[in-house]
Amino acid sequence: MTNSNISTLHDIEEHCPACNRLNPNMELIQEEFPAGRGEDTVLSVSLHSFYCDDCGVDWLEKRAESLMHDTICNHLKRLTPSEIRKTRGKLSVAEFAGCLGFSEMSIRRWEAGSIIQDVSSDRLLRVFRNPVGQKLISQISNELEMKKFQPEEVIGWVIDISDPAYLNSERKFRF
Ligand SMILES: [Zn+2]
Repeated sequence: MTNSNISTLHDIEEHCPACNRLNPNMELIQEEFPAGRGEDTVLSVSLHSFYCDDCGVDWLEKRAESLMHDTICNHLKRLTPSEIRKTRGKLSVAEFAGCLGFSEMSIRRWEAGSIIQDVSSDRLLRVFRNPVGQKLISQISNELEMKKFQPEEVIGWVIDISDPAYLNSERKFRF
């Protein structure tokens, strides 16, 4: 399995957690881990591993956990936390959750990478990523929300004959 999450050396700046020495020895390693609890599938990701000569401590880069989480998301064909964050765009968590019918808690957990969204939630997020889908979901959400404030069902159409749209329409009533 290829992985595109290999970072370049210059965006890594690490201190030894024991002696605080900057930029200790570093190597790129291939970390292997199970795809999930009780899963046989083994996934692999490239990570920077550090080693401090002074104290003999070794550790993995800060982003190791999120890179591993992204790899699991890709394996499960689910959007990654950063992709979900990008999908939300300028909307607040509350607005985004309200529009799609998710709880704010769910959105926060998905974006933080503490849980992975189920397949149906993932599909809905993907629909929202598409401009046409986003327009449709927003429209449906608005219609449903407006119903809450509309005690009576609309039983007929009111036609305003002074409306230019009506006057120009082909479907004028003939008196
Ligand atoms: Zn050290």
